[in-house]
Amino acid sequence: MFDNLSLKLDRAFKTLKGQGRITEVNVATTVKEIRRALIDADVNFKVAKEVTDTIKEKALGQQVLIAVSPGQLLTKIVSEELTELMGGTKSEIEIKGDPAVILISGLQGSGKTTFSGKLASMLKKQNRHVLLTACDIYRPAAIDQLKVLGEQIGVEVYAEPENKDALDIAKNAIKFAKANNKKIVIVDTAGRLAIDEEMMQEITALKNGLNPSETLFVVDSMTGQDAVNTAKTFNERLNFDGVVLTKLDGDTRGGAALSIKTVVNKPIKFISTGEKMEAIDIFHPDRMAQRILGMGDVVSLVEKAQQTFDEEEAKRLNKKIRKNQFDFNDFLSQLEQIKKMGNIKDLVGMLPGMGKALKGIDVDDDSFKPIEAIIKSMTLKERQNPDIINGNRRKRIAAGSGTSVQQVNNLLKQFNDMRKLMRTMNKMGGGKRGLANLN
Ligand code: GDP
Repeated sequence: MFDNLSLKLDRAFKTLKGQGRITEVNVATTVKEIRRALIDADVNFKVAKEVTDTIKEKALGQQVLIAVSPGQLLTKIVSEELTELMGGTKSEIEIKGDPAVILISGLQGSGKTTFSGKLASMLKKQNRHVLLTACDIYRPAAIDQLKVLGEQIGVEVYAEPENKDALDIAKNAIKFAKANNKKIVIVDTAGRLAIDEEMMQEITALKNGLNPSETLFVVDSMTGQDAVNTAKTFNERLNFDGVVLTKLDGDTRGGAALSIKTVVNKPIKFISTGEKMEAIDIFHPDRMAQRILGMGDVVSLVEKAQQTFDEEEAKRLNKKIRKNQFDFNDFLSQLEQIKKMGNIKDLVGMLPGMGKALKGIDVDDDSFKPIEAIIKSMTLKERQNPDIINGNRRKRIAAGSGTSVQQVNNLLKQFNDMRKLMRTMNKMGGGKRGLANLN
């Protein structure tokens, strides 16, 4: 996410390397580089200028302490200013009413339907009773898409394929929700490829007719400044409450994330980083700024792990590790859990310094495929007792999984090293606490 911007900002800070103090001259050079980095990332020109002027002013107004270098001081200032630029603090959605209505707006293809499913899934995990409503009266496929998502996450979907009145469908959905003890109704609406008057009238009528406690505007971050302009137009008509930025897993440059709050004056509330239902995050401006600056986002990583990891499963694995019984079945189960957490590259990118290190390297879910194929080609006995996997078995497993004997050997070696490490940790007695951290 925002790899290029991170690299360029890093380069900007390097211009201060070896400088003992901040001066008009060296700050001017660095700030110019920062401004260029922001504009290259498709940040609105006016926004980039304003923020860099503030950065310069603050840098010159601060005494450099002995403990920090000018580069470090400037990194801190930039981090604070980027945080401000993106809204300062996180903004919650308003869930009020019986049922509470959340209206989802945006252009076609922005990711509305996918996001509706993700939000429903997130709320369901908080034990809320949610109803999804399909109000796209133009594309029957959109209704099916929402139904598939609903089934996947276990949330009921209300639809009336024959009804061509979106407001009427939504009102019926609310009645249905009341009768069926659903406390939140998420209304997924129709979009067009570009803004048109008819769409604007329809979405405005929905908002006026439903009186939602939260209206969200979903926008594809890959569209850069267009995203900001579309947000502006929608907001003028709809006066929405918050923005959802989607497709941040692609190589977006960051412009939309950094400019929207200033231009539209509405906070970003959620970000979406993939097609999977779990790839949704509440937007934290400070964490995002730290990620952009390559400071990592360990807090988000830990939270994600806590949400996704199945605690019972973690306990079970912990017990097996303590008894030196960890086998390939357990390994496979751990891989599954990691995959559930979302896009692998993004996860690793949350670790400090890793974003940079990973630039240009392709790590994704596919990287796990050969490993899974190898394990799945083992017999149950082999998975439970890898020591019996001799030369002939290795050849058979390689052929069965479409990999090479070399790849099988590598995996077996890694697995053995891992088991050795687990044994050592167990022997050290720090097992209980130490291994708990592994999960
Ligand atoms: P809608 O027309 O606004 O309802 O958009 P959809 O929800 O149908 O999404 C359009 C396409 O974008 C689909 O192929 C989605 O799978 C994909 N999509 C949605 N959100 C994301 C995201 O955060 N990342 C990626 N990579 N794809 C997404």
